[in-house]
Amino acid sequence: MRVIDLLIDNIGVLATARKSPWRFGDDVFIMENAAVAVSRGEVLDVGPSSAIRKRYRASRVIDARNRLVTPALVDAHTHMLFAGDRSWELKLKLGGVTYGEILRRGGGIYSTIESTEAASDEELMRGLEDRVGAAIMHGAGALEVKTGYAAAPSGEARLLNIIRRIKSTAKLVDTLLMHVPPRGRDREAHVDAMIEALPQLMPSFVDVFCDDGAFTVDESKRFLSAAARLGIGLRLHADELANIGCSELIGELSLSSIDHLLKTPGDVMAMIAKSRTAAVLLPCTALSMMSGEKPRVDVLRREGGIPALGTDFSPNSWCPSMEAAMELSTYLYGLTPLEALMAATTNSAYSLGLKDVGVVAPGSRALLAIWKVNDIDWLTYWMGGGKLSLLVLGSIVVEPKAASPAT
Ligand SMILES: [Zn+2]
Repeated sequence: MRVIDLLIDNIGVLATARKSPWRFGDDVFIMENAAVAVSRGEVLDVGPSSAIRKRYRASRVIDARNRLVTPALVDAHTHMLFAGDRSWELKLKLGGVTYGEILRRGGGIYSTIESTEAASDEELMRGLEDRVGAAIMHGAGALEVKTGYAAAPSGEARLLNIIRRIKSTAKLVDTLLMHVPPRGRDREAHVDAMIEALPQLMPSFVDVFCDDGAFTVDESKRFLSAAARLGIGLRLHADELANIGCSELIGELSLSSIDHLLKTPGDVMAMIAKSRTAAVLLPCTALSMMSGEKPRVDVLRREGGIPALGTDFSPNSWCPSMEAAMELSTYLYGLTPLEALMAATTNSAYSLGLKDVGVVAPGSRALLAIWKVNDIDWLTYWMGGGKLSLLVLGSIVVEPKAASPAT
């Protein structure tokens, strides 16, 4: 009998993808009365509880108490690194003040750039650690963190370094975001400077806010193409505020993710669905923008696309919870609880190039969530969060509100 570090036993239902990426309509691996054997932070074996118990003796056993176990959630899109907040904008938004007008009154992204530039590295690190901690408490085992609140490439380099220096029990993926053109300076020169900085910075991914009031399709394409030549992964904010043709870049560039898609026409959504690019849905954002707009999930589903999910946590959309993103994806966008789970686990991990995350299978990292529910439907049927029982992050077992090393 082999000795292992950890056995998760008495799993009522284990639900995980069979392959990555998961496309709408694909099968899912579901096993009742299951157990998972973990050794050195890796999943060693998955099978019926009776068989796994015969094969292994564990120094620690977690009794899942007949509940649902899934991969830990993966947040495919966050802007968690910034200083300050913009809570005061909420009343303006409720009063019908437009985003453009809020910008004119000194709010919006430019105000966050000012407060972030004024903050020390320590303040920024503390803020990011707190937000990552909150994400973990809602079931995230891996998340993307974008830069983007700096006025120049040197500031972006500082933010990228902070993401890389954070010590977190969750896996973090860094993305260099070209967010908004600098005020009062030549925007072409800014794009050139960002391109020139790429070989030194070498982020895991680059991203561009391609939209009305941000970067044009041509500027976005120039930046993304330069990153692609260096082998950096590509992400794209597209069609959130207006359709200026950003999502059509799907036909020209090999994107890992294309995000937002609120204004994407059906024919372009069909192209996205047929590609290998994950369509990242961000249901918290539309709410924070007071918008009833929805992406064409019907087309994405019909054409067998790859849905992924993110919180889009930012000062404009203060949502650290992937549980909330999953719930909203059901009630706003019509994803079934199982579709929401696949989007929030294997597909978000796929979009971030994390091959051993977002699934529970031999060889994958031991990142698992044990929920307080017995059935997949309850994952989004129960609204308001609070469903996480335990999160296994390698050798660390996190209880909501309290983290302790496994012994
Ligand atoms: Zn975003």
